[in-house]
Amino acid sequence: MQGLLTIMLFLISFASVAQSPFIKNKVIAHRGAWKNNAFPQNSIASLREAIRLGCEGSEFDVWMTADEVLVINHDAEFEGMEIEQVTYKELLTKTLPNGEKIPTLKEYLQEGMKQNKTKLILEFKPSGISVARSEKIGELVVKTVHELHAEDWVEYITFSYEGGLKAIATDPEAKVSYLTGDKSPSQLRSAGFYGFDYNFRILKMKPEWIQEARELGLITNSWTVNDPETMTWLLDQGIDQITTDEPELLLEILKSRK
Ligand code: MG
Repeated sequence: MQGLLTIMLFLISFASVAQSPFIKNKVIAHRGAWKNNAFPQNSIASLREAIRLGCEGSEFDVWMTADEVLVINHDAEFEGMEIEQVTYKELLTKTLPNGEKIPTLKEYLQEGMKQNKTKLILEFKPSGISVARSEKIGELVVKTVHELHAEDWVEYITFSYEGGLKAIATDPEAKVSYLTGDKSPSQLRSAGFYGFDYNFRILKMKPEWIQEARELGLITNSWTVNDPETMTWLLDQGIDQITTDEPELLLEILKSRK
């Protein structure tokens, strides 16, 4: 019995120190890596480029159609259609500028899961219709991630505090960070959030939040940082992740700091 217990403890400790295959270089490509190659934002092409560059994460935005299909797009509108007001089938009548159809969340996750170096930073958008719908989106994104067994790849971000709470209630292990910037690290910690992803202007006003969050075990991320001065400032503050339209630039800056 004693021997068995020793072996089990050994296996548990071995598993916990096993290296995660995911890259840790702080670089989160905002809506994928689209800018340098003029890919459409949030396209499969922009996700593939973020992966090719070796980013820690590739961010993308999720909306829910009127018939409750989760799709990837930044704006509330896609090619003149309000996503929340139309069906998925209606969205398929138009394409992205590179010819791709609007990706569903499932398709996007499946593409990202072909590799295990770059994380998928899933932003679920607050509904423009109701808080109840924001909560529904928070619940459905988590359920979709579970259905595809994509938990290891996905970290969530959202401006919807209620939607974030719903995602956490659906899966207490879900790594949900909050975007709006109106909650302190300790408020986020007690509500069960994984961390914050705040606009850099807020962190310039409250730089102490970065250390406070880290001491509470929260992850810290900042958006959308495209200039070298702010990138350097955030790195000096010990930020965990930086979300940028210029992942190539941030990768260069990180290389020069080594
Ligand atoms: Mg976003």
